[in-house]
Amino acid sequence: MFILLIVLIKTATQILFLPVLKIIAIIFIAAIPLKALEQIVKGRLSQESYDLGEKVWPYTGLNNFAILSRAHKDMNVLKAVAEQQTVYELQRKETDIDTYVVVIGESARRANLSLYGYSRLTTPNIDKERANLFIFKQAVAPAPVTLMVVPNVLSRRTINDKGIDKLNDNVVNLAGQAGFKTYWLSKQGKINKYDTLITAIANAAENKEWLNGGYDNTLLPRFVKILNENDVEKKLIILHINGSHKNACTKYPESEQVFKNGRSSIEDCYDNSIHFTDKILGEIFNHLRNKKASLLYFSDHGQTIKIKRGQIDYTHAVVHPTKEGLDVPQFIWYSPKVPVNSRKTGEYKEVYPTEDNYYLIHDWMGIEKINELNTHSVLSTSFIPRKKIQVIDTDLNIFNYQDLPLDEIKPYQN
Ligand SMILES: [Zn+2]
Repeated sequence: MFILLIVLIKTATQILFLPVLKIIAIIFIAAIPLKALEQIVKGRLSQESYDLGEKVWPYTGLNNFAILSRAHKDMNVLKAVAEQQTVYELQRKETDIDTYVVVIGESARRANLSLYGYSRLTTPNIDKERANLFIFKQAVAPAPVTLMVVPNVLSRRTINDKGIDKLNDNVVNLAGQAGFKTYWLSKQGKINKYDTLITAIANAAENKEWLNGGYDNTLLPRFVKILNENDVEKKLIILHINGSHKNACTKYPESEQVFKNGRSSIEDCYDNSIHFTDKILGEIFNHLRNKKASLLYFSDHGQTIKIKRGQIDYTHAVVHPTKEGLDVPQFIWYSPKVPVNSRKTGEYKEVYPTEDNYYLIHDWMGIEKINELNTHSVLSTSFIPRKKIQVIDTDLNIFNYQDLPLDEIKPYQN
């Protein structure tokens, strides 16, 4: 036992002095005081939302640790949300739609979809459906990273109002109380399953599953099974996919490679990942075509194009974002089985904050809160457009979207 201990200590010491690990350790240790100092100078340490680990780790380049740090903090929020129950006074109006599907995309940059005029044909399946679509021409995410976006988009929480009660007031709870059977299928990681604010909303679903391994298309068999369950009249199915998250080259099978020899292999992979998401959406449309169904797709946030080591790179616009870091695709699709009078197709041309999707989704589903006019849903006759659209970055700076700069690098041209 004693000898074993000595060997263990010896091995551990040897490992510690391996050069690579040493460099990582030095970077990390140096980053903590430097970042903390910067925050003290900025007077941020007193801020309620400040979290040292989350702020420090991104500077070491080890972003997963930042997520873990945030996740740990979110555990308490999860508990608090689970303990709370928002009870609504609701009424349901008939929409002629029984199956509602929400697809939450990942890191899809609006300008890279041919639906929005990109020179590469990245979204042939969505493009074909144009007559069945209501397209948001200028949808804008509230923040440049998933964890800061998805909770706000699906709940009443906003960048300016982060109360737990607002998180509990979400579209899954609303749908459940309005008599819908609710499903949450996720291709995002286990961290999301156990520890994040997104989970707080997913947990409100009657059926929730996190599917690990493989590509986004592994959701489809489960999705089809849910569609064929005939035990309820109305369903809300939320699919949270991996889409085009960095490293986009790993988000689709090799056989699905369509674009190559462009400006950079990163850009080629990125466009291939958009093309693969389009293929999955095309399959979903086909499964829904014979049902009274409608689908809402949006991406959580966009990406900014930068030059990294002399190469075109796609990345999250974390601090001081460009417009493209937040510009997202969003549309509502209606199956041909939905009567024409019950569809709203065409375009919404103005700048639209996806934070208002909470209002849009329950209005789309025909759910009305008694004594509350839904003025933030573009589908509503009471809609009043927002005068000012604010966004937040990962350093918690708040900006007016209109004031943000554009990417210096323009989209790829064939
Ligand atoms: Zn994301």
